[in-house]
Amino acid sequence: MDENIRFLHDGPLSPIKRWGAKWSLWPVHLVTACCGVELAHAYACGYDGERLGSLNYGIARQTNLIIVEGAITRKMARVLKITWEQMPDPKFVIVMGACGLNGGLFWNGYNMVRPSDVVPVDYFIPGCPPTPEALLRAIRALQDKIMSGRADSTARFEKVDLRDLVQMPETPKLKRAPTPPLKITKAPPIKVDIPREVDWDGDEILSLINDKIGNYATGITVTGRGRIHARIPLERWRETASALSANFDHVRSVNVIDVPHEEKFIVEYTLSSYTDRTLTGVLLTIFTEVPREDPVIESLADIWPSADYMEREMYEFFGVWFDGNDWMGRKFLLAPDTPDYPLRKDFEVNKESYVIGRERR
Ligand code: SF4
Repeated sequence: MDENIRFLHDGPLSPIKRWGAKWSLWPVHLVTACCGVELAHAYACGYDGERLGSLNYGIARQTNLIIVEGAITRKMARVLKITWEQMPDPKFVIVMGACGLNGGLFWNGYNMVRPSDVVPVDYFIPGCPPTPEALLRAIRALQDKIMSGRADSTARFEKVDLRDLVQMPETPKLKRAPTPPLKITKAPPIKVDIPREVDWDGDEILSLINDKIGNYATGITVTGRGRIHARIPLERWRETASALSANFDHVRSVNVIDVPHEEKFIVEYTLSSYTDRTLTGVLLTIFTEVPREDPVIESLADIWPSADYMEREMYEFFGVWFDGNDWMGRKFLLAPDTPDYPLRKDFEVNKESYVIGRERR
């Protein structure tokens, strides 16, 4: 018997203890991913999970069940463990969804952790996402476990001999394996400023941008309606930003594109304006190239504070050093044990890297 519930089966009051535990399964709110929507569905008026005595509750210390709703990342694994440790005994864990079972659509992601490596799991519910019925079935299964002291699978699979069902030919015809759907190009052409014919009356805006940075940019291209790309040499990066700061008051996004076959990263900042009405619908992307072996670029967070978090993020994912941003060299968004620079193209994903302390299958 599971040690966790042994005391429910000991002593003269054991029937009452079991009855009480069975009808008081209170899951803590710990929505980790999209399976949470199905959990909400299971407890909404249609399925009314509460009729099984199961009531979602907000505080770990007054709950006795964790329903892991999908993917658990390295960062979330700590939260899961801390939550579990705060809960009183007897406590239970149900894991919902393919992500919690084996990674699901994030299979082998650098940031994935199996919940069963962090906390002891009583029941898994397969599916992506599992239905509310499946979740309620797991609650019923857990109630049965509390009563009987034994975890049983709620599904029984009979062994079927396919030869009884399908007439197999004496000499089966062999089929070729399908060709892979993807062709991997060794040196894909990467261009971020492809000119387009666009119906856009933006001559005034273009001439403003030309006035400001025409001397620095090695190309200014219209790529769509209100979408402009400006190619800037690395040594003119800060001057360009200073020249644009009076008109463009914020950075919408900071992106890095890894181009390993050309030994470079493309770094781009997309700018826009909240204060200048003529520019609110315009996205100006300034981009430059940094060498891959020493990827250093000046931070623009002092000019546009909204770039700060995005520069930190790009540093953690790609290892591009934004000189002048105080957060370089530290992990801020990723968990401390995440391997360095996981979005670089040459980042090696270990087989089943998210499985901690398990043998490969
Ligand atoms: S199993 Fe499917 S629905 Fe559930 S968290 Fe993963 S991707 Fe989302």
